[in-house]
Amino acid sequence: MAKLELLKKYAKLAVEVGANVQTNQLVWVNSSTETKELARLIVEAAYNRGAKEVNVNWSDDYVSRLGYDNMSVETLEEIPQWSIEKAKYFMDQGGCVISITSPIPGLNAGVDPIKMQKSGIARSKAFKFYQDHMMGNHAQWSIVAAPNKVWAEKVFPNLKGDEAVEALWDAILVASRVTESNDPIAEWAEHNKTLLAHNKVLNDLNFEELHFSNSLGTDLHLKLVDNHVWAGGGEDSTKGVYFNPNIPTEENFTMPLKNGVNGKVVATKPLNYQGNLIEDFWLVFKDGKVVDYDAAKQKETLENLLKNDEGSSYLGEVALISHDSPISNSGILFLNTLFDENASCHLALGQAYPMNVKGGTKMSADELKAAGANMSMAHSDFMFGSEDMNIVGTKKDGTKVQVFKNGDFVI
Ligand code: ZN
Ligand code: ZN
Repeated sequence: MAKLELLKKYAKLAVEVGANVQTNQLVWVNSSTETKELARLIVEAAYNRGAKEVNVNWSDDYVSRLGYDNMSVETLEEIPQWSIEKAKYFMDQGGCVISITSPIPGLNAGVDPIKMQKSGIARSKAFKFYQDHMMGNHAQWSIVAAPNKVWAEKVFPNLKGDEAVEALWDAILVASRVTESNDPIAEWAEHNKTLLAHNKVLNDLNFEELHFSNSLGTDLHLKLVDNHVWAGGGEDSTKGVYFNPNIPTEENFTMPLKNGVNGKVVATKPLNYQGNLIEDFWLVFKDGKVVDYDAAKQKETLENLLKNDEGSSYLGEVALISHDSPISNSGILFLNTLFDENASCHLALGQAYPMNVKGGTKMSADELKAAGANMSMAHSDFMFGSEDMNIVGTKKDGTKVQVFKNGDFVI
């Protein structure tokens, strides 16, 4: 099959399974100029699906970099009213969004951090109404990925230029369950069924605690908050349209009890934090807090993360992912959370997701804290799953249930 045909399958997947574009719906595609080929295919697929209008919001990270270098902080903080009106128009029209992620590692190295921070804060404040609309699932949204040369050469240091880009394309497509011989849309329907079935089983078991252990030395007792909710897979918009926020996604995740984590966890993949790779590290928890740690590389970066704020040395998320999954099987470190966090069981230091406790999305910060949720400006996922990971859950009545045996779900 020609490459173009594969990319068309991927674009169709983004439109039909990702955002699940509806007849006569307005569609936004967020794309950088680096990914215009995929953007055009997504536009075509959206029209084929019956979209009313497809509008591409083009960006160019090199142009943005020039802006950071040459504009004053005051100018960077100015948010033009028309851009706010545009977002409001999109919301009023009931539009949905497909975003193509294609990070350019290291591009903003050397930019004045104050400029980035201040313009970022100004943008988040001005567009909070839009963020709330999307995070509250009032519209369908989906993130897919496409390579660029700089990213591809970082992932495949032994390849150059087009060869690296092709290798990263292959890896992205396999991870997204798009292959020459399959029907990705049917395969995603099956995949979502599996994820939802795991959510249901885990929610019904309503564990008090999970015990993780493997031969690398992980021996971790992790309590879950009362009324926790396992999530993962597709979601319903508030208008009842089923969509997949992330392509790919492999995880079932929920909320650890902030003060209820004890024992040692040994990471199985490097953690990319602020552009630095923390390698071969472990953490020891006592009553939820990291009390000891070490790393073969970038220990000081790990220390920065842990000392970011009070909550960054506590956990906010626990996610279960079978070792036998496309991303894990590829053995590739993508240097992009969309992929890497789906490679194996992970934990996140920092902020918890309100959706992972019953009624959480309507709780105040104080109510969430009282429920046992960790709060932090950070949310850093790190992988600790392995092919010999065993997980045993303990129910409220003390009964034990094996959840993972040798790296994979057994429930
Ligand atoms: Zn996760
Ligand atoms: Zn996470």
